[in-house]
Amino acid sequence: MQDANQNGIRKVVIVGGGSAGWICAAMASHYFHKTGVAVELIESEEIGTIGVGESTIPPFLQLIRSLGIDEQDFIQKTQASFKLAIRFENWRNKGETYYHPFGQIGGPIGRHEFYQCWLRAKANGHPSNLQDFAPATVMADQWKFIPPVRAQKSLLSGANYALHIDAKLVAQYLRDFAEARGVKRTEGIVTDVVSRPDGFVERVIMKNGTEVSGDLFIDCSGFRALLIGKTLDEEYRDWSDVLMCDRAVVAQTENVKDPHPYTVAQAQDAGWRWRIPLQHRAGNGYVFCSKYLSEDEAAATLLSQIEGEVLLGPNFIPFKTGMRKRLFRNNVVAIGLAGGFIEPLESTALHLIYRGMDFLLRYFPDKDFDPGLAAEYNRRMTMDYEEIRDFIVLHYVTTQRDDTPFWRDYQAVVPPESLRERLELFRASGLLRDGVDDMFRAPSWQSVMEGMGVRPRRYQQLVDAVPYAVIQQTLDQSAPILKAQVAALPSHGEFLAEHCPAAPFQ
Ligand code: FAD
Repeated sequence: MQDANQNGIRKVVIVGGGSAGWICAAMASHYFHKTGVAVELIESEEIGTIGVGESTIPPFLQLIRSLGIDEQDFIQKTQASFKLAIRFENWRNKGETYYHPFGQIGGPIGRHEFYQCWLRAKANGHPSNLQDFAPATVMADQWKFIPPVRAQKSLLSGANYALHIDAKLVAQYLRDFAEARGVKRTEGIVTDVVSRPDGFVERVIMKNGTEVSGDLFIDCSGFRALLIGKTLDEEYRDWSDVLMCDRAVVAQTENVKDPHPYTVAQAQDAGWRWRIPLQHRAGNGYVFCSKYLSEDEAAATLLSQIEGEVLLGPNFIPFKTGMRKRLFRNNVVAIGLAGGFIEPLESTALHLIYRGMDFLLRYFPDKDFDPGLAAEYNRRMTMDYEEIRDFIVLHYVTTQRDDTPFWRDYQAVVPPESLRERLELFRASGLLRDGVDDMFRAPSWQSVMEGMGVRPRRYQQLVDAVPYAVIQQTLDQSAPILKAQVAALPSHGEFLAEHCPAAPFQ
């Protein structure tokens, strides 16, 4: 075996300094420490960043912790708030609301999955709702918050949480982190990319004539996709046949009340609107389909529905849903918007960045760029993208709304085969293809299925081994206990003020 150092990657160049660029740079600086790999990041203040991307899922906190960053310091400096769930409004029918919470829903009864026991109870006419047993939902609905580690001995310990973050402040935080660990930042606009005859990128040339060469290039240039798109012309798999929205209009507003500990995703006539409250302001946006609504109409709708004075916007962001066929090609790896985009209904894009860099570290090449590593990287990342696509499509194709052309047309959309299979399996007896590496675990699928009115035809017969009285008693007792435990908690606003008050950068 060759000494890895002789053929190892010496220089990684990250093109782009949005959330993707700085997450990659922070991870690279942390994990490449003492390995002799230099990291240089190029970004252009003139071009700027997309500036959205503010709702996260719990693995985002794993990223922060894995870098050794103090969670409280991070929350204070980025003026973040806590997120326990997404509150879906008007999706199945107008006037209906459901939550997709983080963490567990109930606990096993005997050795049986809670969901199956609950299905049996429903078959027996039990009046409860599934979310009565989800600690994160019960907290979210009452605008309460406590981190589960502080509630170890209560039912609340089954909750989980993520953050609402200010994208610009997070990029700033991670930039400081990465630069302190040796990442070199170069300001300017890349105008040319020089490739070898075999298509491997050799160097990029900037407007001021500076040349930056490297062994491995991470394309974090956003929708511009300078390397993976403009240079390599890698095929884009377009998923707009199943995810019809193609634009967003976004605006930042002042906060008019305490931040709620959930993201609002409210269905609209031609898409959906989000509200993400931070400590110092709120992020808002309307994701819509331009076939059914003009930009002016979308902006007018957004502005008529948001609360508080507008601080920024409205700004328009066009997008095409899909992903590159290969995210890792030659010596280029596309991470972030350069690699693909799925509308932010389940707040998954920042997580895909983390996954993208995590897998790159796992399948890290040497200068031979063994095609097997890139192939495995592409296979794993494609699985993630497709799983997210299916999960998002689920929210639309199960609607019962037919009040606008957009929703009527969605009823005719044929889901991807992988989602059809999942739906069939679920409808049969509430089963899920729950792989170890899946991004969304059973409670996520169960929450959205239940919220959209997709319920299995029967529960699994094995659950009949538990006396029904035991199931009934567990349900009858646990929901009121959980409710009472939540009622005694501080409000989300009080918790933030006491434990993580905003502490801007010095
Ligand atoms: P960008 O932020 O666009 O950064 C691109 C970088 O490349 C910039 O630094 C730019 O200066 C640089 N660059 C480009 N061209 C050049 C050049 N020629 N020379 C030098 N530098 C260059 N994600 C979530 O997880 N949760 C959400 O709630 C969420 N909401 C979203 C809402 C909308 C409407 C959209 C569009 C996205 C949302 N996302 C969300 C996704 C999230 O915003 C992105 O995944 C994330 O911000 C990463 O963006 P990026 O860094 O890839 O691109």
